[in-house]
Amino acid sequence: MKEIRNFIDGAFVATGKTFEKRSPVDGQVIALVHEAGQAEVDAAVQAARAALKGPWGKLTVAERAELLYAVADGINRRFDEFLAAECADTGKPMSLARHIDIPRGAANFKVFADVVKNVPTEFFETPTPDGKGALNYAVRRPIGVVGVICPWNLPLLLMTWKVGPALACGNTVVVKPSEETPQTATLLGEVMNEVGVPKGVYNVVHGFGPQSAGEYVTTHPGVNAITFTGETRTGEVIMKAAAHGARPVSLEMGGKNPGIIFADCDFEAALEGTMRSVFANCGQVCLGTERLYVERPIFERFVEALKKSAENLKLGRPEDPETNLGPLISHEHRRKVLSYYEKAKALGATVVTGGGIPDMPPELAGGSWIQPTIWTGLGDDSPIAREEIFGPCTLIQPFDDEDEVIARANDIDYGLACSIWTKDLSRAHRVAGQIEAGLVWVNSWFLRDLRTPFGGMKQSGIGREGGVHSLEFYTELKNICVKL
Ligand code: NAD
Repeated sequence: MKEIRNFIDGAFVATGKTFEKRSPVDGQVIALVHEAGQAEVDAAVQAARAALKGPWGKLTVAERAELLYAVADGINRRFDEFLAAECADTGKPMSLARHIDIPRGAANFKVFADVVKNVPTEFFETPTPDGKGALNYAVRRPIGVVGVICPWNLPLLLMTWKVGPALACGNTVVVKPSEETPQTATLLGEVMNEVGVPKGVYNVVHGFGPQSAGEYVTTHPGVNAITFTGETRTGEVIMKAAAHGARPVSLEMGGKNPGIIFADCDFEAALEGTMRSVFANCGQVCLGTERLYVERPIFERFVEALKKSAENLKLGRPEDPETNLGPLISHEHRRKVLSYYEKAKALGATVVTGGGIPDMPPELAGGSWIQPTIWTGLGDDSPIAREEIFGPCTLIQPFDDEDEVIARANDIDYGLACSIWTKDLSRAHRVAGQIEAGLVWVNSWFLRDLRTPFGGMKQSGIGREGGVHSLEFYTELKNICVKL
């Protein structure tokens, strides 16, 4: 049986206390994961603190950037291993992870190495009464040890989205991957050693949240800042933990994202984009569309077309090139998603398609499979329209007017993302400007440029990362004033 160890101070550390990692595809145990206790988290934080003062802390920006390029190349060299590990943990189709998860995992190191090399700081000449003046310039310094708490939906991509900029800025990290997806973070430890990242710079501790590695990392006084991606309720707990010692947090949390489809859209493009935004990664994408508003003249046609496409999705093993829908991450998560499927029925929704567990061949019956599901017939006040389900499902409602749909899209506690589909450019800008979300796509979805700000409004997050915005979180900006 494969064993997944913690990665502390450049070494793989067993703890003797293990938990099982099961495959979402067939329910079989695929690995035993060594859970870190307080002692291992202490060791990881200590190693990370020591590394700040070691060779890592003395590298120039250019030297650090070179090492991060080497990390990216190291991931690409072992691309197939990362791909296999990610798909084993998540059950997601290889066709998806090959194009998104693993390449983005590598790109996150390259992009932020470039950002730190190229982004200037500010400079001001200040007049003084003696006429000689003063010069002000700002320098960026690492914030220290960063605790990185990760979710399971895009494990390598979202973890490196934090680790890339954190290391580019000269920090060291203690990463706590999700208990559901321990493998790629651990494999990255091997790459770090291979390319010569000094020991203690990148550490990984495995375990759960409360009274386990997650809590130990976020409450550790040796951790200077915490960056988190996950559920809003967990983010609230982490924010409280970070209050001790007044430590900064960056929180990327849940969403209940609207898609707005106007009658004048490019129908096929809107259909294709919406199919991805609802069903990609089995609906387990924070940016996914669980609320769709379709302008009334095309409502019936759109519902019918989406139903047809959803019913053509092929569930199957990750390695099957035909597969475009994997399972949910776990049985526990499936219980949650199914509870919403039941609730929708009980509330009187029209189940356009899906609504339950699919029939799978016997060898896959132990997996956490679920049917792609579309509902109509419920209003904005139903829990189906208001609560994040995080599954391959969406509620479609008609709308009649632009102001009405903006108000309905905004009437929610979340504010992460929105997709707007229309050929009317003025309307696109007008609506986009009024939507309460950190990310708005017009005629696309999940089209990402890593230099742009990323994050959520309202209960979807605090802070922005991406490009120069990541530097705001991962560095202390210091002003130096020189009197001439
Ligand atoms: P989760 O909140 O359950 O877990 C995330 C991480 O937090 C895990 O590593 C978990 O072990 C850890 N954790 C749990 N309790 C903790 C505690 N008390 N202290 C410290 N750590 C703790 O989230 P998840 O189920 O893994 O991921 C799905 C969620 O993530 C969804 O809500 C989704 O919207 C959100 N998400 C948001 C973004 C974004 O960019 N905004 C991206 C991806 C996922």
